[in-house]
This record gives sequence, C-alpha cells and structure tokens, in this order.
Amino acid sequence: MPSTMKALRKMQPARGLSFENAAVPSIGPADVLVRVRTASICGTDLHIYGWDRWSQGRIKPPVTLGHEFCGVVERVGEEVTAVKAGDFVSAEMHVSCGHCHQCRLGEAHICQNLRIIGIDQDGAFAEFVKIPASNIWKLDPAIPEHYGAILDPLGNAVHTVLAGAIAGQTVLVTGCGPIGLMSIAVAKACGSSTVFATETNEQRRAMAKKMGADVVVNPAGTDAVARIKAETGGTGVDVLLEMSGNPAAIQQGFRALRAGGRASLLGIPTESVPLDLVNDVIFKGATVQGIYGRRMYGTWVQMTALLKAGRLNLEPLFGERTPMEKFENAFALLQGGLAGKILMYPDGIKS
Ligand code: NAD
Ligand code: ZN
Repeated sequence: MPSTMKALRKMQPARGLSFENAAVPSIGPADVLVRVRTASICGTDLHIYGWDRWSQGRIKPPVTLGHEFCGVVERVGEEVTAVKAGDFVSAEMHVSCGHCHQCRLGEAHICQNLRIIGIDQDGAFAEFVKIPASNIWKLDPAIPEHYGAILDPLGNAVHTVLAGAIAGQTVLVTGCGPIGLMSIAVAKACGSSTVFATETNEQRRAMAKKMGADVVVNPAGTDAVARIKAETGGTGVDVLLEMSGNPAAIQQGFRALRAGGRASLLGIPTESVPLDLVNDVIFKGATVQGIYGRRMYGTWVQMTALLKAGRLNLEPLFGERTPMEKFENAFALLQGGLAGKILMYPDGIKS
C-alpha cells in the first residue's frame, strides 16, 4: 500500500488547480478507503477552479476536489461490517451529523451540520478517497462503470423528478445542463407525458432532444410561455423542474405552470429572484418545493432501481474521457459550455 498518491487539488486561494502528490488518507474505525476508478467533473468544480465569490467563502485550501466518482474498496476500518475490500462502490458525498433536528426527523439531506466530501474535506479527484462507511453505496454489477461515476448529479435529477407525481404529467424542464438533461430522461422513464425543455445554448437543446424531450424551446428566440400554453390547451404544465438557476427561466417556468401544479426548484440562482407570488403561486394554488441533494437513501434506492431496470439511457451525456493529469483541457471544454459529462481517470484511461 503506497503512502502517497496523485490528487487534483486546490492549493492556493486563487484561480486554478494542480495535480499534486498527497498523502493517502488514513482511515478511522468507521471509514472506508476507496481506490477511485472513474471520476466526473461537476459545475461546482468549475466554480472552485475559477475561484468565484462562493468558492472564496467556502473552500479552505489545500483541499482535493471531486464528489462524483466510483471505485473499488481498498480497505475498511475495524468497525465496518457492511462493506468489504473489493466491493465496487460509489458514495453519497453529503455527510450528515446524525443528531441535529432534521437528521432526527429522517431528513438528513438538509442536515444543519452538513459537510461535503470534495468541498469541505478531501474528495475523489485522487487515487484514493476516504468515505464514512454509512455513506458508501454498493453498486449493482448491472450498472455500467461510467454511470457509477455520475450518480451524484443523477441523484439530484431523480430527487427532483420524483418529489411529486410524475406519471401522466406534462413537465417543463428549464435549463438543460447535465442535471436538466438527466431529468428529462428520468421524467420520461417514470411515465411523464409531454416533456418541454427550455435552453438558451443550441448544443444543449440538441442534447435535450436526444435525452427524450418532446418540445425544446429557445427562450431567447421564442415566447416560451406562449408556446407551452398553446401546446397544453391553454392550461400550462403540471410540473416545473427548474434546473437553470437563471432568474428569467424561473419566472417563465412559474408562468408556464398550470393552476394546482408543482414547481420543484433545484437550480441555484446567484442573486435574489423577484416572483409574482400572487399570480404565479397563491392564486394558482401551486406547490413549491426546494430540492437539495439526494434523499438519504431513498433517492439512491429509486435511482438504482431505474438503472437496474435499464430504464435510463444516459449515453448521449458522455463525451471526453481523460487521464486526471490532463484536467486543464477537460475544465476548458466545460467552461466553454460543453453539456456532457467528462470522465477522468486518476491512473490513466482504462480500456
Ligand atoms: P448548468 O449550469 O450546466 O446548467 C444550467 C443550464 O441552464 C445551462 O445549460 C444554461 O445554458 C441554462 N440556462 C441559462 N439561462 C437560461 C434560460 N433563461 N432559460 C433556459 N435555460 C437557461 O448546471 P447543472 O450542473 O446542470 O446544474 C443545474 C443547476 O442546479 C445549477 O444552478 C446548479 O448550481 C444547481 N445544482 C443544485 C443542486 C441542489 O442540490 N439544489 C445540486 C447540484 C446543482
Ligand atoms: Zn444533522
């Protein structure tokens, strides 16, 4: 067992990342050490790379990034019984405290003391990552390895889509980044009727079609609300899945929602968003939900069931694959607006 490893780290409070030598994490009695096979880059990693205002307030360098991954258990602490060396796993990277009010209510995804591996402590862009055993998710062998690396954002999509009725419902997905695109596939797999999607980026609109959206609208060129109303007999959609965080998209989404509909909001705006509460929420009798993370572990159970049943085709999402040391190119592609998921391999691309 080596004592050092390669890791993609934020070393300084400034733009950029570096591929460094770091110590292999030592594990406690209730921890698991995972040898990372495949990792995937999230929008949050781009923010940390760019050292935006949010990152400056949250990240304490030096820290290893990475919260989307799968790998093989290398060894386990002496108290760990449910996982063993050799198991193929991913993990819930939001670590809850287990004792706050929400944790006691079974709402660990909104724990008051939540810590995120790969943000608040060393993550999975490395040869090895330390995870509390309770956060490990064993992967069914039927799930392909590249899917295993994106369960974190897929779980965001599953959580949002299944936060209310979906079968037979008309759906609007606002914003077709990776999570919006996954939400389209999940909504379709779960029996939604017409799925509308709005997206300003042309390549991402094309991806939305590939993922199964029925009607894809560019809100910059078309009156998206009028189009959706027209296609729903003047009623509006049953369900809004807000996946952009963009104020204009959020407002349009609410206007396109039918009276009595459900708005599930996952996208994170960087500013406050004015809403017409009277007309778009109160008089509509709308149900509005904030969605954070993945339910522990109900979302993981649902996601696994969908994947095992072969109900989700996520292939259009996968693009470049790169050794982790070539991370600069991958980050540049994503910063350029590529919507797909880029997979990274800490010890080179495997066949
Ligand atoms: P992303 O930034 O890749 O996707 C957002 C998409 O919205 C982009 O494709 C963008 O072109 C599109 N968009 C921008 N303005 C638009 C408009 N006016 N109309 C329609 N589309 C518009 O992000 P992602 O990784 O797919 O994540 C989606 C959102 O969810 C982000 O805001 C992210 O911060 C947030 N997020 C939330 C959670 C959570 O737990 N709540 C977890 C992960 C990500
Ligand atoms: Zn808690």
